[in-house]
Amino acid sequence: MENFRPEELIVEHGSESSRIYANLRRTLPQVPVKFVDDIGSDANTHFAHRDPFGAAKKKLYLTRYKGDFFKKCPGSDGQVCCNYFVINFASNCPMDCSYCYLQEYLLDNASLKVFSNVDDLIDEADRTLQKHRGVFFRIGTGEITDSLALEPYTGMVRELIPYFAEQLNVLLELKTKSDCVDSILDLDPKGRVVVAWSMNPQPVIDLDERGTASFDDRLVAARRCQDAGYRLGFHFDPMIEYRGWEADYQTMLEQIFATIDWHRLSWLSLGVLRETPRLKRMMRERFPHSRLLTGEQVLCPDGKMRYFQPLRVEMYRKMVAWIRRAAPTVKIYLCMESRDVWQQVFGFAPACEKELGNQMAPVD
Ligand code: SF4
Repeated sequence: MENFRPEELIVEHGSESSRIYANLRRTLPQVPVKFVDDIGSDANTHFAHRDPFGAAKKKLYLTRYKGDFFKKCPGSDGQVCCNYFVINFASNCPMDCSYCYLQEYLLDNASLKVFSNVDDLIDEADRTLQKHRGVFFRIGTGEITDSLALEPYTGMVRELIPYFAEQLNVLLELKTKSDCVDSILDLDPKGRVVVAWSMNPQPVIDLDERGTASFDDRLVAARRCQDAGYRLGFHFDPMIEYRGWEADYQTMLEQIFATIDWHRLSWLSLGVLRETPRLKRMMRERFPHSRLLTGEQVLCPDGKMRYFQPLRVEMYRKMVAWIRRAAPTVKIYLCMESRDVWQQVFGFAPACEKELGNQMAPVD
């Protein structure tokens, strides 16, 4: 993927003694640094720009996070939830996908931030995990950022893996569209860490995933992680329907299964393009030539627009058939879909979130 080079690093006083600050100074020595007492007012300067969200990605803030790091994934109203927990160690992302929901979700708080108090994060996770030893936790770090895109500069994930590798009731998922895995390959994840790639065929990446790693580079990075002992996951999400999508997605799956050992895949997920009407308006402003603006969609009960249900079911069924041909028993789930769609695709729907969450627990 493209190298990240912020215009400025803005550090809130109190964060300069952190390991993350030391890493940033070492890896981005040419970037000017400014110290502030409070990032509050400075973090709003992008609002003066013609493209505020794009401008927010160009400065990097380092600050302490003052809230709770550990949260349940909000999911989507009325859709089957996969009982997922999230830890947010950063906010926003240096890449710029046209469909990214952060454009809406972080609209009022878009500055690109990394949180320096990694020890607080680990302490908080430890209190929760110790208290619920009988519960299996699937924890992701990619809810409001890409898990690995900033890793070459912050070294954040390298700080977290040794702790989570020791927890028997956890899988930590690092979800990414980058190929930034160099700094984690020498660690021992002890079967507790899943590195998961959001995958789309290269024509989709070229048009709608600006600044991300190419399909080939993501796949090479996945193979390197598998060789280093990491579990892998793939998210085919958002799947995009266009003329010729079947051939591109089928070829993509063949390339993936020719490169990685599917027996060591933790899970695959499928989800189609979805966005709120407000996000669609933003996409129209920021990416007026995107192909994603032209397809037909319907408004669903959770307020998100998706392809018409019969088309979604057809897309999922085709993907499941192509996947099953290569990997007959791999775990597949649908992201943010209704029970009705689950039934039509798989012939069953999970009885509850806990059931789906438990299905994702490792069996070895
Ligand atoms: S990689 Fe993910 S977080 Fe980053 S811009 Fe794309 S969709 Fe958004």
